[in-house]
Amino acid sequence: GIEGVEDAPEDLRPRPPVVTIMGHVDHGKTSLLDALRTTDVAGGEAGGITQHIGAYQVTLPSGSKITFLDTPGHEAFTAMRARGASITDVVVLVVAADDGVMPQTVEAIKHAKAANVPMIVAINKIDKPGAKPDRVRQELLSHEIVVESMGGDVQDIEVSALKRTGLDKLEEAILLQAEILELKANPDRAAEGAVIESRLDRGRGSVASVLVQKGTLHKGDIVVAGTEWGRVRALLDDRGRQVTDAGPSMPVEVLGLSGVPSAGAPFVVVENENRAREISEFRQRKLKEHQVAGQVAARGTLDQMLARIQAGDQKEVSVLIKADVQGSAEAIQTTVLKLANEEVGVRVLNASVGQITESDVQLGKASDAVIIAFNVRATAQARQLAQREGVDIRYYSIIYQVADDVEQLVRGKQAPKHREKFLGYAEIRRVFEISKVGKVAGCYVTEGVVKRGCGVRLLRDGVVVHEGDLSQLKRFKDDVKEVSKGYECGLSFAGYNDLREGDVVECFESELVPA
Ligand code: GDP
Repeated sequence: GIEGVEDAPEDLRPRPPVVTIMGHVDHGKTSLLDALRTTDVAGGEAGGITQHIGAYQVTLPSGSKITFLDTPGHEAFTAMRARGASITDVVVLVVAADDGVMPQTVEAIKHAKAANVPMIVAINKIDKPGAKPDRVRQELLSHEIVVESMGGDVQDIEVSALKRTGLDKLEEAILLQAEILELKANPDRAAEGAVIESRLDRGRGSVASVLVQKGTLHKGDIVVAGTEWGRVRALLDDRGRQVTDAGPSMPVEVLGLSGVPSAGAPFVVVENENRAREISEFRQRKLKEHQVAGQVAARGTLDQMLARIQAGDQKEVSVLIKADVQGSAEAIQTTVLKLANEEVGVRVLNASVGQITESDVQLGKASDAVIIAFNVRATAQARQLAQREGVDIRYYSIIYQVADDVEQLVRGKQAPKHREKFLGYAEIRRVFEISKVGKVAGCYVTEGVVKRGCGVRLLRDGVVVHEGDLSQLKRFKDDVKEVSKGYECGLSFAGYNDLREGDVVECFESELVPA
């Protein structure tokens, strides 16, 4: 391979940390990024105008440097990781002191934990009269974040992005964390790194922002980035100034590539143009094969995990658990964790309550995990994303079946089998009370078919509220065998009457699973 040449320990030098800022919307991620940018002492007089290139570097009065990725939010972070680029050393979790821990705060915590990236908590908006920093610390406890002032080891800094207070303390905290991580790279080798973002510029052609991770990138180098390649015509820093080279942790804009590489794609410097062309053509071919294969059958996280466990390349089964109630989520977590053996462990990324969202699917993708859905379903968008990204979601209503399947995976035996055949979805549009019959649901079939006598589950906000059999399937006044997508029908359920408008009926047929 061309990448991953090991460096001798004596060639390694300290490098600046690369930081991503995450947190709930409106808690001040953008404001904090803007404020931190002004702390750069190297920028000022040397000139240059602030450019958005996806990341910037600040030099502190001490001479230390920190690189910030300036696309806030966990979507960017997770998307990068999903594409294989792990470029963040430290996550700064912003929590507004007047608002406290909110849903996206919790998601950010989960993503950072799943990526094994250490966190620093910035308690922002401390200038506000309603600021309650201690309440934030307390709330973080219930998400297993124990900050230093409460005896834990997560640094917590009070800041105001607006008044620009606490920024130096936050930067000190980042540098301290970097020291603990012993971040090092060899600057004297061919550069490697990742594409942060890229675009086609009318005057300048392909413009790719890259983060150098190893080595030093020079003007004139021949670079392969994803499926694109080219000779570096110019390098520009985050103030739009031309530079001749960029060392480890430095973000730069690269001009001269043949096309626009995708964000998260790896880049590497190679010895000559022939080699660059060769690699880029090879990658384009692979990409096409992948796309063709993807149309036939998306290879999901489950198959990939099983193949790696069988090959001895993977030592962990990763799962993400979503359940209808907290008790079930916890019971499943405890059960599957016990299934680890000496060779293969079990990792639970997250066990929580509610329907499966796009964020869950992204986390599953980034961590190569299988999603275990217990009496809950995925939103339509989440299902589409899962299909596109090849993330497996397995639905269950019996805990021991979850245990069976995870055990099979741990032992490298087989991917869990589907125990039933999905038939279709119907939406309840109206509920009628009919004497002697009980309640009948006037439905519209939105997907697949509904068949007489099939198994049904009633979903309310993505959660299974009833599972049973269909007792009646009618089109107008007639009993019918099946009704397909796009048609209306009347349904009633054996021994169940709590039907509501807006509920979704999931129809399935059980399949016999060979022992
Ligand atoms: P983001 O959605 O997390 O990027 O949040 P923004 O940076 O856009 O900030 C959201 C709002 O909070 C804006 O109106 C900011 O002016 C305000 N804000 C951000 N930081 C502070 C702060 O430290 N103090 C106060 N009082 N307001 C702030």
